[in-house]
Amino acid sequence: MFDALHPTRNEIMSINEYRDFAILSGHKLMNAAPRARCPVCKRGLAVRAGQTKDNQHFYHDDEDFCPTKDPASRPYLGKAPTRIDLKAIELNRQWLMENLDAVYSKLSSIIPRLAVSEFADLLEEAKRLNVYGYVGFVKEHTPYVLVTLMNFLPSNSYKKQRKFKFVFFYDAGVQNYEDLWIDRGFASDLTSVSYHKNVPQKSKQVDIETSYLTQSSKLLLTPKQREWCLKVL
Ligand SMILES: [Zn+2]
Repeated sequence: MFDALHPTRNEIMSINEYRDFAILSGHKLMNAAPRARCPVCKRGLAVRAGQTKDNQHFYHDDEDFCPTKDPASRPYLGKAPTRIDLKAIELNRQWLMENLDAVYSKLSSIIPRLAVSEFADLLEEAKRLNVYGYVGFVKEHTPYVLVTLMNFLPSNSYKKQRKFKFVFFYDAGVQNYEDLWIDRGFASDLTSVSYHKNVPQKSKQVDIETSYLTQSSKLLLTPKQREWCLKVL
């Protein structure tokens, strides 16, 4: 991975920024400085020199489990709610129908080159898993749940323009989606990681915010695309 969490602060830093950090804190060798952390499991990462200077990167130097090593093992993946709030399902779906453009826009801003077909696939998967029925589901957080339901492959992207595979992760401690809205908050960091041939490349923190609902510059689905999405919702 070419970037990681700062050793103490909740900020992503690039390997170059980490090199500066190591020097400024008086360490000649990056591996002697306090470790940068994995944005998902929060464990310390080692630095490996690449074949070229540009290739230097962070990596897990232990055998312990981290979802970034095996994205298919994310514990919440494909999990339907254990307790269902029947009354909420219709309300949450209704809300999504009314805010479909806003949710699509938000997802397009965090998933590079999102295709409408992928958006429809997400809606279909959400319906299959009954995600709108989670007890305590916060409807405004819908994009941040949808985004974890599948991996975003270059081959499925808009005009196949996405260069890397993108996968979204909650903190490694999250076992169920229900864990996310403890006390009506959003109790986890959300991170996107890009992969090239299953090797993690860049990571980014996703800001969990709800101002996307009132932003005026929204991407608009065409009537046809909208109809397509509503059919699977
Ligand atoms: Zn990790």
